[in-house]
Amino acid sequence: MSEIRHNWTREEILEIYNKPLMDLLYEAATVHRKYHDPNTVQVSTLLSIKTGGCPEDCGYCPQAARYHTDLEGNDLMSVSHVKAQALRAKASGSSRVCMGAAWRNVKDGPEFDQVLEMVRTINKLDMEVCCTLGMITETQAKRLAEAGLYAYNHNLDTSEEYYKEVISTRGYEDRLETIDNVRKTNVTVCSGGIIGMGESVEDRAGMLVSLASLNPQPESVPINALVAVEGTPMEEQKPVPIWEMIRMVATTRIVIPETQVRLSAGRTEMSREGQAMCFFAGANSIFAGDKLLTTPNPDVNEDMEMFEMLGLNPQKPFIKKMQPETVEAEDSQYQALGEKPKWSRPGHTIERNEEAKMKAKELKKAK
Ligand code: SF4
Repeated sequence: MSEIRHNWTREEILEIYNKPLMDLLYEAATVHRKYHDPNTVQVSTLLSIKTGGCPEDCGYCPQAARYHTDLEGNDLMSVSHVKAQALRAKASGSSRVCMGAAWRNVKDGPEFDQVLEMVRTINKLDMEVCCTLGMITETQAKRLAEAGLYAYNHNLDTSEEYYKEVISTRGYEDRLETIDNVRKTNVTVCSGGIIGMGESVEDRAGMLVSLASLNPQPESVPINALVAVEGTPMEEQKPVPIWEMIRMVATTRIVIPETQVRLSAGRTEMSREGQAMCFFAGANSIFAGDKLLTTPNPDVNEDMEMFEMLGLNPQKPFIKKMQPETVEAEDSQYQALGEKPKWSRPGHTIERNEEAKMKAKELKKAK
């Protein structure tokens, strides 16, 4: 009988999260060793292929056009630029490239075609390719799969209840629908969240209930610590204490045992000792490179030094699942349908998002 459970309750997860730390670590490390090689860590490189100017209002995000941050936006990168970056990432030990575009959802057309070409190009470099492009339809997911996409990232961010305090321009059910569309292909699912946005521990448990109830559970779960960027609605949030990060990683490991738990944003604030405890608690993936989309990240050489000190080895690509085949554009079975899906737009008022928007407007006026 499979030991993977999809019916975790919030109470059960809270009980795990709040255990005495030594008991929690021991349990998480035991689960980790049962399902994974504890000395192997996946290294992914995150590339922002289209930066800023996003129409969404995610309260944590400096890429939302409505807030005023120091971020410099960029149009979609060329395929050759992406290829050069992927080769650099491969040379420095990454097995996966994750490409992020600041879009609400994917629209059929030349830009999506360009992303498909990026996917084909990186898959041919024998690296795992992941994309995070916003909401996608089933046909778009199939086109990505055909191009050789290995994973699609779409974070749930937090619990369904607290989501309404963070984003007003789309609904939780759209996130789940996109994940469902990805699941209709052989592309793996990467979905996790952010802690430190002002949510309660119950919300953290609620997010894990949602992720664990997916069947199959996501193959990767990124756990981010909020990086509070000036100008965003969450600019005043205090950094997440390392102990909370360790507890969240350990609880994720126990509840979603087969997944790769990724230490994502916020690593620059963590000591090596803190990161080592996260690896012990079951984290087995990191993002490498000096930037995480738009926020700082440790230098890859420092990470490799840390790996050496801890005796960790970077994971080789396609260990968990075979490399997908790339179908060239001219041989594709799927055509762009120009679909215009009705993704929701709840449009409720989130006070801190409104305040940050007003502040941005005033700053613009004053210029
Ligand atoms: S998190 Fe993504 S969807 Fe939300 S504002 Fe940022 S780029 Fe846009």
